[in-house]
Amino acid sequence: MALEKYREKRNFSKTPEPKGSVPVTKAPAKGRTPRFFCVQKHLASHLHYDLRLEHNGVLLSWAVPKGPSLDSTVKRLAMHVEDHPVEYGTFEGVIPEGYGAGIVMLWDVGTWRPEIDDVDAALKKGDLKFQLDGYKLKGSWALVQTRGSRDPSGRSWLLIKHRDDWSGPVDVTAEFSKSVKNDGADFEDILAADAPDVWTANRPAKGGATGAMLAEIIQKAAALKAGKKPKRRSR
Ligand code: MN
Repeated sequence: MALEKYREKRNFSKTPEPKGSVPVTKAPAKGRTPRFFCVQKHLASHLHYDLRLEHNGVLLSWAVPKGPSLDSTVKRLAMHVEDHPVEYGTFEGVIPEGYGAGIVMLWDVGTWRPEIDDVDAALKKGDLKFQLDGYKLKGSWALVQTRGSRDPSGRSWLLIKHRDDWSGPVDVTAEFSKSVKNDGADFEDILAADAPDVWTANRPAKGGATGAMLAEIIQKAAALKAGKKPKRRSR
């Protein structure tokens, strides 16, 4: 994991730790020990939610286009993506260019706990059952890998809420849409807070695909700020 490269790109003096204590385990947790999890709401080329579970010193990561649902009958597509450094888990701010260019909001944070003893075996099997204890997401969940010819890459998983005291009809992404890090900040607040430093230090290309993407994001942020519904790409 290229942590040096990750650090070069970011000004950590501008990303203070969230209020309250965020438990991050120092050594890889074994068995069913609680460890760090987060969900980062990521406005990039499209809006999605990155679910990250700490395991063996990295954050296992799934990009969930529609975000988590508390409805136990709903299965949300979760694309398995590359591991992220643990330090990334409390990041909220602007990624000016390249990988994941856009705005990242720390949407939920807390601890997760496997419901099985062997996480690696569960991942290999494509069926990970776990508990979440965040601000927004709690109770029992599953990540289940989809199989078959439709997805030879094996990257497609489904995120499913198990029926329990924490499941229900609440539309959690709509009802609780803001940051848990900075007192209910929305994308435009994050953009406004981070833009001067990040963009001066690491200015993106003005043209090309990156420039076009950033222009779109800025437009979305401006629209959000104006209280209008941002223009979304149909999926
Ligand atoms: Mn992402």
